[in-house]
Amino acid sequence: MKKWMIAAGTLGLLVSAGCANNESGENGAGGNEESSSGSSEENTEESQEDPENGSEETTDANKNDGQTEPGEAPPETSEEGDLKNPSAIDALINREYHLPADYEPENLVIPDVAFPFEGDLQKKYMREEAAAQLESMFAEAEEEEIELSAVSGYRSYDRQASIFAANAEEDGEEEANKYSARAGESEHQSGLAMDVSASSVGYSLTTELGDTEEGKWLEENAHEYGFVVRYPEDKTEITGYQYEPWHVRYVGEDLAEKLHENDLVMEEYYRENK
Ligand SMILES: [Zn+2]
Repeated sequence: MKKWMIAAGTLGLLVSAGCANNESGENGAGGNEESSSGSSEENTEESQEDPENGSEETTDANKNDGQTEPGEAPPETSEEGDLKNPSAIDALINREYHLPADYEPENLVIPDVAFPFEGDLQKKYMREEAAAQLESMFAEAEEEEIELSAVSGYRSYDRQASIFAANAEEDGEEEANKYSARAGESEHQSGLAMDVSASSVGYSLTTELGDTEEGKWLEENAHEYGFVVRYPEDKTEITGYQYEPWHVRYVGEDLAEKLHENDLVMEEYYRENK
């Protein structure tokens, strides 16, 4: 598997979001069934103010310059950076905002879409809501004669940890950091992310996908199904991740639409507004 070193020289800290599939020994799906207790305390459903209606100025939320949209406050975390509401569909997950080690999404299912391999593998799974939307998106693509293929979805905390450990052993921790995410910092643990590729690039996770008609279709249409291409080429310094035209993240239709319309990534949307 390729490792993404392209931008390492110029951009220093950029790493890939841990999509790298250099995992050996696939094993069965789902992982262990730990009942995650108490994860659903109180959904902090912020009332969504109508962004079109610019007349009502809210106090501190609008202080940031240069933003066209009022964003949400960043999600609440523990001191260690673990998200307090890790199951939120719109959860911000990155090196700063982590999924807790014991977080396992509920309702993981295998979406009925094309995969370039057989078997009941953990990486085929997604959360049910995201899986249904992925199916709709792939179906519409097919209608337009765009053949997409799902390559890698859910990945448990433990699996991510062992992948990172294996990579670190092989290349050293510093190198591994450039292309592999640490456990808790990968969106794949949420069950809301899927790496998507196409036969035209040999089903690989390559930036070349962005130049194919499949990659372009994805970029233009994913938001209609509640997905965002999470690490765009022109936002690498904001996301801290290299360009990944293959990695789509389900955030729900409303947020996906907002991000797409305003050309924002989640880090910008959840900008610090303390
Ligand atoms: Zn990915």
